[in-house]
Amino acid sequence: SEFAAFDARAAEEVAAEEEQQAQPVLAVVGRPNVGKSTLVNRILGRREAVVQDVPGVTRDRVAYDAQWSGRRFTMVDTGGWEPGATGLQGAVAAQAEFAMTTADAVLLVVDATVGATATDEAVVRVLRRSKRPVLLAANKVDDQRLLADTAALWSLGLGEPHPVSGLHGRGSGDLLDAVIAALPEAPREGERAVGPRRVALVGKPNVGKSSLLNKLAGEERAVVDSVAGTTVDPVDSLVELDGELWRFVDTAGLRRKVQTASGAEYYASLRTKTAIDAAEVAIVLLDASEPLSEQDLRVVSMVVDAGRALVLAFNKWDLVDDERRHQLAKEIDRGLVRVPWAERVNVSALTGRAVRKLAPTLRTALASWDQRVPTGQLNGWLSELIAATPPPVRGGKQPKVLFATQAGIRPPTLVLFATGFLEAGYRRFIERRFRERFGFTGSPVRINVRVRE
Ligand code: GDP
Ligand code: GDP
Repeated sequence: SEFAAFDARAAEEVAAEEEQQAQPVLAVVGRPNVGKSTLVNRILGRREAVVQDVPGVTRDRVAYDAQWSGRRFTMVDTGGWEPGATGLQGAVAAQAEFAMTTADAVLLVVDATVGATATDEAVVRVLRRSKRPVLLAANKVDDQRLLADTAALWSLGLGEPHPVSGLHGRGSGDLLDAVIAALPEAPREGERAVGPRRVALVGKPNVGKSSLLNKLAGEERAVVDSVAGTTVDPVDSLVELDGELWRFVDTAGLRRKVQTASGAEYYASLRTKTAIDAAEVAIVLLDASEPLSEQDLRVVSMVVDAGRALVLAFNKWDLVDDERRHQLAKEIDRGLVRVPWAERVNVSALTGRAVRKLAPTLRTALASWDQRVPTGQLNGWLSELIAATPPPVRGGKQPKVLFATQAGIRPPTLVLFATGFLEAGYRRFIERRFRERFGFTGSPVRINVRVRE
């Protein structure tokens, strides 16, 4: 189908993009009762609720968003984790193994008032095999007098021990400075460029793009080619809809129709691509009076591929009778299966029918495109989902999903940390349930899997 190309999009390309987008992960490991959870809470400023500790009950690893000095990272608290391994030493070593395979850096927490135990030393032996940076927190250093206990932890051979008090907060700033320095450069989430939001109005020839643009502009009498104090790229149109100014990108060609004798289709598709790339949200205009075509679906998939928010507008609704409406519903069911999340508006550029609905629909799509689910909330939901429906066994192995973060927005991108490949069907299942829970109407959602073995 038309969407085959989207599905087949080079996996490496997506993975490479993800590696860049994903925020770095810090895993916190250490023996029980050294104060890992207390320290994690301290670092989070208790912004996210932490699961209640129930002694003897296995708690899933939980991941949270953390931020320090303007840098974002994901913190995984292995605090309550009791894997199948036998004995304390085995359990803590397994925890360290987990941390090494999924995290970009590891924070080993030791109780400075107790000093290095045999278990701590066993963990260090495991962590030494890791190529990832390991930081050492000497916890429970509540006051100056305990600094000597901190110095004793140099013996672990992990470099400088950072004295902290998870309980009182002492030293946590210095520790976080060291954490940030050890983590790979995180992408800074640049604020969106200010100014009107950028809309692409696209669709195959003759669906009514220029008619709609003129209608929108005329209706609101607000198309402006320049606004006081603003420089407007002359190929764009500023249009006021519903009390808000929008930038319709790359509309020069729409407003003044230029017909190229040869290669017209090629140039039309190139222009479509350019407009989509320049936009944040695309209105794909479809001709409701005609059967949905391959060309229509190709434009839709261009928007999804580009990761832009999407609104589907069925134009020429004035020509649609009951019979056609019935037929169209079937075509939509069959043809638009990949974008059930896109809102549809039935409009007429000729009569002006429902064009007022476009602005609210654009706002919904953009809000979804900008939306981020906090890591704690995401994992609470995910662990329940996966417990109820685990990933299918592949080649005799059951891949495990360890945790997830929403690595990016525009478009929203999830990264699942797993012990094995998750097939496309299962990723789609996760996406479906994710949308049921969190919405994201009008925006594509990308789900990528990071496997570290
Ligand atoms: P975890 O099992 O490693 O996650 O440890 P917890 O965070 O549950 O802490 C274990 C115990 O140590 C709790 O009673 C905490 O109140 C206590 N604790 C944690 N951090 C500190 C600290 O910095 N100073 C002191 N004095 N006690 C702490
Ligand atoms: P574009 O190539 O996508 O820019 O399409 P145009 O705006 O040039 O429209 C193509 C043809 O469809 C023109 O003859 C328009 O008058 C007609 N048209 C556009 N919108 C509507 C509509 O809502 N209803 C009807 N009946 N005709 C329309």
